[in-house]
Amino acid sequence: MHYYSLQHKAPKVDFRTATIQGQAPDGGLYFPESIQQLPAAVLSNLAGISREALAYEVIRPFVGETIPSAELQRIVTETINFPIPLKHVHNGIYALELFHGPTLAFKDIGARFMSRCLGYFARDEKQPITVLVATSGDTGGAVASGFHNVEGVRVVILYPSGKVSSVQEKQLTTFGDNIHALEVDGNFDDCQQLVKRAFKDTGLTSQLFLTSANSINVARWLPQQFYYFFALQQWKENQPPVFSVPSGNFGNICAGIMAWKAGLPVRHFIAACNANDVVPRFLETGDYQPRTAIPTISNAMDVGDPSNFVRILEIIGNDRTMLKTILSSYRTSDQRTKELIRTMYQQHAYLPDPHGAVGFDALGNWIQQHPDHKGIVLETAHPIKFLDVVEPVIGQPVPVPASIEETLTKTKNATPIASDYGALKDYLVNSNPF
Ligand SMILES: *Cc1c(COP(=O)(O)O)cnc(C)c1O
Repeated sequence: MHYYSLQHKAPKVDFRTATIQGQAPDGGLYFPESIQQLPAAVLSNLAGISREALAYEVIRPFVGETIPSAELQRIVTETINFPIPLKHVHNGIYALELFHGPTLAFKDIGARFMSRCLGYFARDEKQPITVLVATSGDTGGAVASGFHNVEGVRVVILYPSGKVSSVQEKQLTTFGDNIHALEVDGNFDDCQQLVKRAFKDTGLTSQLFLTSANSINVARWLPQQFYYFFALQQWKENQPPVFSVPSGNFGNICAGIMAWKAGLPVRHFIAACNANDVVPRFLETGDYQPRTAIPTISNAMDVGDPSNFVRILEIIGNDRTMLKTILSSYRTSDQRTKELIRTMYQQHAYLPDPHGAVGFDALGNWIQQHPDHKGIVLETAHPIKFLDVVEPVIGQPVPVPASIEETLTKTKNATPIASDYGALKDYLVNSNPF
């Protein structure tokens, strides 16, 4: 399998090179040359195969020969070594809980897969690899946890000061060792711009072996297909589900659309957005207008120019009619998000996090217009990650899962920097990598 750049001005590469480079040298995102249909025997018997075997089938064509089969099996098994349950919430509305991994958000899956692939590829590299990543909240912790103590890899995380939750900040600033956190005086788009600029800076990339761990990296993006398949393994309704996906950079929903393209039965996708509504507007008007990110209480979705949206257009061959058949998008205000948290908790005894709440709002709207449909909200994070938002809304404390108690007692260790490329470059070149 080869990958081409969506800018079409860079050579085609294999999975190994796409993973190591992150982004193509022309600034484009990598995209697989073909999307193979899964064998009919697999698709017709999803519940009859183990999660591990299914995930392996899904990812194998994208990895090609770059990782030997036994090694890839190990990587897949380690990636998904926690439960991903589908829970019925009410009236044909389900939650797929993606928050049972080490940092309590779905990004653990992509980050665990990518760190293991890169760890495998790094064995043959002479120079240490620097993973440079911008986070709007959850990526940082997932990448930090996935890469902590991976040999030959240093991780530098940029996060927007004051715009991530207190639990998220602890998760990305307390590992130490090969994990370094930079607290940027700016918003997520600023962090992402700094990272993009670093990759384009040949003066820097000639000195440092740089790669990204954002959802643009194919090794983070593609394994996100797994849980759409796991959802269907557990799905007992007699019609395909509608998936409502809380969306920011659109990597997660784009993976779902890949899974659908590979043959997974899905009725429709809904991109559930907060006030950052570039895609809902695009679907209404046909005009794609990137904007400055607006801070909201579902902060992992505060993205004003979602990188992965171009990949969605590529999957459907830029066919706007097809796009509307498979994808809708809603926006939900902060006030409405809080209402949803409260009513889901009081009426249905289910406590969503703010991102999940946006997903429940979007699916609720859809089902009102399509009363015979049934659907799944991807519950992308545990509510404890957003206790600052959730606790005042429900008027009681959210119990802390035992798995993060220790992290919360640790002391934050981050280097403040200005939203300025010179400052980032200086840090990357001059700080002690390990
Ligand atoms: C990252 C994140 C999202 C958005 O996912 P994208 O792939 O960027 O669209 C939604 N919810 C949570 C909790 C997240 O961490």
